[in-house]
Amino acid sequence: MKLKNILLVLLTLVGQPAFGQSAAKLSAPATSPNRNVVYITWDGFRWQELFGGAQEILIAKDAGVADVEGVKRRYWRESEAERREVLLPFVWKTIATKGQIFGDPAKNAQAKMENTHKFSYPGYSEMFCGFADDKGVDSNKKFPNPHVNVLEFLNHRPGFEKRVAAIATWDVFPSILNQQRSGVYVHAGPGPIPGEAPTDRERMLNEMISDTVVLWPDNQIDVITMQVAREYLLKHKPRVLFIGLGETDEWGHGRRYDRYLHAANRSDAFVAKLWELLQSLPEYKDQTSLVLGCDHGRGSTIRDWTDHGAKIEGAEFVWSAVLGPDTPALGVRSDVNATLSQIAATLAVLVGEDFRATSPKSAAPLADVVKKSERP
Ligand SMILES: [Zn+2]
Repeated sequence: MKLKNILLVLLTLVGQPAFGQSAAKLSAPATSPNRNVVYITWDGFRWQELFGGAQEILIAKDAGVADVEGVKRRYWRESEAERREVLLPFVWKTIATKGQIFGDPAKNAQAKMENTHKFSYPGYSEMFCGFADDKGVDSNKKFPNPHVNVLEFLNHRPGFEKRVAAIATWDVFPSILNQQRSGVYVHAGPGPIPGEAPTDRERMLNEMISDTVVLWPDNQIDVITMQVAREYLLKHKPRVLFIGLGETDEWGHGRRYDRYLHAANRSDAFVAKLWELLQSLPEYKDQTSLVLGCDHGRGSTIRDWTDHGAKIEGAEFVWSAVLGPDTPALGVRSDVNATLSQIAATLAVLVGEDFRATSPKSAAPLADVVKKSERP
């Protein structure tokens, strides 16, 4: 045995990192080295509904609600606690009791974006790259993102190669995540699932994709994105999976508050079913963190709740939620501010990696989402 090998064995025996492992590896929980993370976004879903459920002022014909009494029956309740729980049962029964939720202004805990554009590409770029770049990232056009994102970083880390994927409703994600440079698998927008040897379910999904009425030329409908993502998870077992849902934003722009609520309610149900699925698979059970969030908020009045952008007051406020084996059950967080830019380092730390070692401009992980004893 050569001297270097002997040293390697000795170092491994005393639990020190072996040669060749860079400083980017954080001390992941010693008992469970194979952490995974699933990150799901609900595009343009407001903190008002997340923390307050359906808003009375918007359950109205003027907000595009076709059946006011029906929506009231389904989503209106006397107390705020009941309203948010009936709209988002998984968020409020499971994440709020076993995980953490950031961004409740009533708890002196705002979550905000740092970019000033308040629309999607800059929002997603900020969350995945860890910082805002108002000049370099200023449109929703399909330009290759100049900045390294956390999925790209993880895709090059030992143990994660080719096990990082993004499935999304909106067709701009291949650019936002710079698919060409990053090598991250990205399936986004209304096109079919690529690849040879499709499973029976993939074949059926591709049939549905070709036969579904196109509602928005640049977006898939969420139910298909959800099923494509579920099938990808079962077939490829990624360690890092991003799922970008988009109907909340589309129905918001379309001034359909009823469908905006239904889309959020279905997104919550999807997350619940996915969480159940993860806990039924040995690769993921008790080894997987779930992060939820959005890319921007919207206006707060009956006139501008449909919109967002630099001129829309309040659209800079967002929210996020974390659930998983390393996250203390602190519930709705109080007296702590958060930014969209903190998501990148948060996703990394949940799988024991340090994105900031590679991308020093990136913001720190969300405060106390990982138990203090498990920090480096
Ligand atoms: Zn939008």
